[in-house]
Amino acid sequence: MQVNSAKEGSGFDFDVVIVGASFAGTACAIAAAQRGLRVCVLERKRDPGDKLRTTGIIVKEAAEHTLLHRLPAHMTRRIEAVHLYAPSLKQVALAAPGYYFLGTDTPAVMRWLAETMRAHGVDLRLGCAFTDAERIAHGWQVHGAGTARYLVGADGARSRVARRCGLGEVRQFLYGIEYEFPGSRLAMPDALHCFISKRYAPGYIGWLAQNPTGVQAGLALRHDPANARVPDIDGFLLRVGMAGGLPRHLSPGPTRAGLIPCSGPVSVLARDRAILTGDAAGIVSPVTAGGIHAAWDHGWTVGRAIASHVRDNGPPPELVAIDAAPRFRTKKALRWAYDRLQFDWPFDLLLHSPPLRWAAEKVYFHKRRC
Ligand SMILES: Cc1cc2nc3c(=O)[nH]c(=O)nc-3n(C[C@H](O)[C@H](O)[C@H](O)COP(=O)(O)OP(=O)(O)OC[C@H]3O[C@@H](n4cnc5c(N)ncnc54)[C@H](O)[C@@H]3O)c2cc1C
Repeated sequence: MQVNSAKEGSGFDFDVVIVGASFAGTACAIAAAQRGLRVCVLERKRDPGDKLRTTGIIVKEAAEHTLLHRLPAHMTRRIEAVHLYAPSLKQVALAAPGYYFLGTDTPAVMRWLAETMRAHGVDLRLGCAFTDAERIAHGWQVHGAGTARYLVGADGARSRVARRCGLGEVRQFLYGIEYEFPGSRLAMPDALHCFISKRYAPGYIGWLAQNPTGVQAGLALRHDPANARVPDIDGFLLRVGMAGGLPRHLSPGPTRAGLIPCSGPVSVLARDRAILTGDAAGIVSPVTAGGIHAAWDHGWTVGRAIASHVRDNGPPPELVAIDAAPRFRTKKALRWAYDRLQFDWPFDLLLHSPPLRWAAEKVYFHKRRC
């Protein structure tokens, strides 16, 4: 849907240029385009489904309350329980009535997002990397795109937009790595299998998940640039594969890997008509490392705020963006504690105890924005 007024007489090529065509960038682009803005999205990958850096599991809230509820059914698979394994591989089944996650055919989802942007009139430029931008009166000159009133960095954990525009950069990360096993099937495919292990996944967990086209198996650990260690995903799979119902003798397909922000929103999230969103802004839960829902919500809010400002003289979108960023105060405290006090024995000893079960169900199933 295109509406005239915003474009006329602006002297800019675009109302907004967005860098990154993943969850945050797509949400921002569609929200702005629906309100009649001229939107350009730069995405460095030629195929948005290529070189993925996410497991792509979508929480129920995002599956029901965002545009992601229109994802074609064949791209998703419902997961209704979590099986949590202590380091000893004792396990407990967690569930919350009515709650679910969606495992996804993530390459297909990313291509669907690109098509959906185009259907909304977004000028999506695939294979076009953002390199630099200069400040001009009331906007930005973006290399490879032209002039824009607003520049949005939805370009992930190592945001180039943040660096070039003098915005805050994410400094603390987990590192996640995952193998895909196309065509294979877990013994219990309706559960997400999560493994606590200080040895293989210090600072986070490992996981096995069924998606519509196969199995994903991965782990994430605290990333320490001064003391980087190569995650032992093969050792991890040898240890947990049987317990988690992974078929034997599989050869992995593509690998997904990337940094996951884990210290909450960046210090300077927006200023001077440049705004960060999603991972670029550090908007990822420091506990669950889930970022898709938060990226979508924040990107959408930023797109709406830019449209409201450009069209109706609404409040400065920079302020709206800062205000809308979840602070994750409780989750940051939990992250601090887990980084320093993670031991295997309490999980081995207490996995079936009501307090641990309660805490785990809170982490997996409660609303994710505190
Ligand atoms: C291994 C792993 C597993 C994860 N699993 C989950 C999960 O199951 N569920 C969940 O909720 N969260 C998960 N996360 C976190 C989640 O994937 C991210 O929080 C989410 O993808 C953030 O979306 P985004 O749009 O902000 O950024 P991203 O998804 O990182 O997308 C950034 C986009 O910007 C593009 N880009 C980067 N630089 C440039 C440039 N210079 N020019 C043009 N384009 C550029 C990239 O190609 C990319 O398309 C996982 C993360 C990792 C690393």
